[in-house]
Amino acid sequence: MIIAVDGPAAAGKGTLARALARHYHFHFLDTGSLYRMVGFAVLATGGDPRDEAAALKAAQTLKPESAHNEDLRGEEVGEAASIVAANLKVREALLGFQRQFAAKRPGAVLDGRDIGTVVCPDAEAKIFVTAAPEVRARRRHQELAERGLAPSFDSVFADILARDERDRRRVHAPLIPAADAYVLETSRMTREQALAAAIAFVEQRRKK
Ligand code: C5P
Repeated sequence: MIIAVDGPAAAGKGTLARALARHYHFHFLDTGSLYRMVGFAVLATGGDPRDEAAALKAAQTLKPESAHNEDLRGEEVGEAASIVAANLKVREALLGFQRQFAAKRPGAVLDGRDIGTVVCPDAEAKIFVTAAPEVRARRRHQELAERGLAPSFDSVFADILARDERDRRRVHAPLIPAADAYVLETSRMTREQALAAAIAFVEQRRKK
């Protein structure tokens, strides 16, 4: 079984997708970290994420297993990730790994922007997690503060809006709910409530 969890920045996709994977004993892949690794690799060599050849080279030489890098979590890398993610060749270079991962048994949960629409259009359960931009910015701001980073709330809010706009407007695999996705609006929900709603939806799909 494949569970696709998509949504805008800081909507709580990662937390929800991880919790679903734990609940079902499925494999879990944070696909945003792949794009972050590409963005990070370009920045680390002094390159520009808009340089398509540099981004493609980084994507083709990516080692997905080295994804657990704290340096990937900052807003600058998130921004670079969303720039390289608009490049079709970069997206194509990362597709095979994601699809292979999704085929793992007994099942996999993938979170990202285009899992339900492009990477796994046949996923049995698709969840589109969202929340009001202010709520997402507040959550991201708090998460960064807990990690000892202290950007202002306004700069986090502006970064999130800019990233969403770029992800929604891009030509290839834009951020959009799949037609058959369950839209989970978490602005007024706790993590536990969001997880319970997601499990109830997955259970419905499993019965079909
Ligand atoms: O989810 P996260 O914030 O880590 O993603 C970073 C960026 O990677 C996103 O803003 C988006 O542009 C890109 N991304 C994507 N497709 C995915 C996952 C992430 O384009 N499946």
